[in-house]
Amino acid sequence: MLEKNILQELRKIVGPSWVRDEPEDLYCYAYDATFHENLPEVVVSPQQTAEVSGVMQVAYRHEIPVVARGMGSGLAGGSIPTQGGIALNLTRMNRILEIDRGNMIVTAQAGVVTADLQTAVAQVGLFYPPDPSSQRQSTLGGNIACNAGGPHCLKYGVTGDYVMGMEAVLADGRILRTGGKTIKNVVGYDLTGLFVGSEGTLGVITEALMRLIAPPQAIRTAMAVFPRLVEASVAVTRILEAGLVPVAMEIMDDTTIATIEAHKNMGLPLDVEAILILETDGDEDQAVREIERIAQICRENGAREVRVAEDREQGIQLMLARKSVSPSLARRRPNKLGEDITVPRQAIPEMVARVKEISRRFNLPIPIFGHIGDGNLHPNILFDRKDEQEFARVQQAAEAIFEAAIDLGGVLSGEHGVGTLKRDYIERNLGPVAVEVMRCIKASLDPKNILNPGKVLPSSN
Ligand SMILES: Cc1cc2nc3c(=O)[nH]c(=O)nc-3n(C[C@H](O)[C@H](O)[C@H](O)COP(=O)(O)OP(=O)(O)OC[C@H]3O[C@@H](n4cnc5c(N)ncnc54)[C@H](O)[C@@H]3O)c2cc1C
Repeated sequence: MLEKNILQELRKIVGPSWVRDEPEDLYCYAYDATFHENLPEVVVSPQQTAEVSGVMQVAYRHEIPVVARGMGSGLAGGSIPTQGGIALNLTRMNRILEIDRGNMIVTAQAGVVTADLQTAVAQVGLFYPPDPSSQRQSTLGGNIACNAGGPHCLKYGVTGDYVMGMEAVLADGRILRTGGKTIKNVVGYDLTGLFVGSEGTLGVITEALMRLIAPPQAIRTAMAVFPRLVEASVAVTRILEAGLVPVAMEIMDDTTIATIEAHKNMGLPLDVEAILILETDGDEDQAVREIERIAQICRENGAREVRVAEDREQGIQLMLARKSVSPSLARRRPNKLGEDITVPRQAIPEMVARVKEISRRFNLPIPIFGHIGDGNLHPNILFDRKDEQEFARVQQAAEAIFEAAIDLGGVLSGEHGVGTLKRDYIERNLGPVAVEVMRCIKASLDPKNILNPGKVLPSSN
């Protein structure tokens, strides 16, 4: 519990109704989309940057931990207030401040819901491509803080590729502005890039300038069924070698397919190792031409069946299988640990083989799906948290998956971030020098270690 005088200081800054410390409020900010939780001591919900700055000044003076929070959809434990303190809820800061059509840039507050941002720019004929599947349950600030990706990243890149500048409040309350509306800018260090993926450990992002592009006119979808996963992987390479850049290349392995079928009964084949769902976009001719070429390459490389949607409606139906993965997993076992390792594309068949061996070794179902085009796989370990023995095996299986990814030249996370779940492994992934440099950056920007302490960097003891 924070002292009364501190609560009063906070109430003066944001208004009494936006500082809450009743148990029912604290519980609402204790979790993210993992299975961990811890209560904050107070929830503070500012509406503007000056208020965030005021809150940070109080936190700095009293050395109170502050966890910036968007919608709590993170999958790495990042927004859980593991050391109590202030849960800084940014969802009231949800205004779109400007859509500059001429320069194709949107400026928005950090708490805007990603899907609302996409809708607002679409209404004036522009397109914001980053598309985390959680776009309706996540914020722009959270997406920047985690450098969120999504199915369309193969062609369009990740959130960080669209950040042109930002406003962030530092640990002591100072307001930092980076970047701007110019495409080119090499004045000094890339501070915008430093905050992308920083998971709330270096500052609180309050506003951002995001690059927009012209929307594609048409999208075409195909589903390709591969008896052998290795052939699916070869087909992906051949497609990219042919100079085609599909907007999405999603893979589902046999365990994932079986899990979807058990709950949705969509008529997916149960005797194959992999299904690919592929999408092209552009103008109508380009989208159709490319999807047909892709279908042909899949057939030439071992696909048993390729269905090409004739229109958008059929395409949405084909994509439905992929969209059904998360709800289906939830019905198979009560809990899941969703990993998001990324390996060089050529290592995907070996990575899948190793995850299957890990699944057998630890006697845990691990469906694998993800974005095969950029090597980003989501092995989801399914379990029951109440079974302590099973839970112990989950931790070991997760570690074995990390080891396998690193061994194959990959990384622990492609889009979810490190949070608490992966922080003990980052030194193995990045090496001691990289971690030491990160510690120096953290110490200089947050000398009292109040910004999301205990996240990203391993404990130094
Ligand atoms: C069903 C589901 C599907 C998902 N699909 C994807 C996907 O396709 N791609 C993907 O990349 N992720 C995905 N995620 C993970 C998650 O949605 C993303 O990481 C998202 O970017 C988190 O946004 P948020 O607003 O919910 O942030 P939170 O979960 O609230 O916070 C996440 C981290 O960002 C920090 N943070 C939040 N806001 C700020 C801010 N304004 N300033 C500084 N730090 C801040 C927090 O401190 C924390 O460390 C998915 C999650 C779920 C539950």
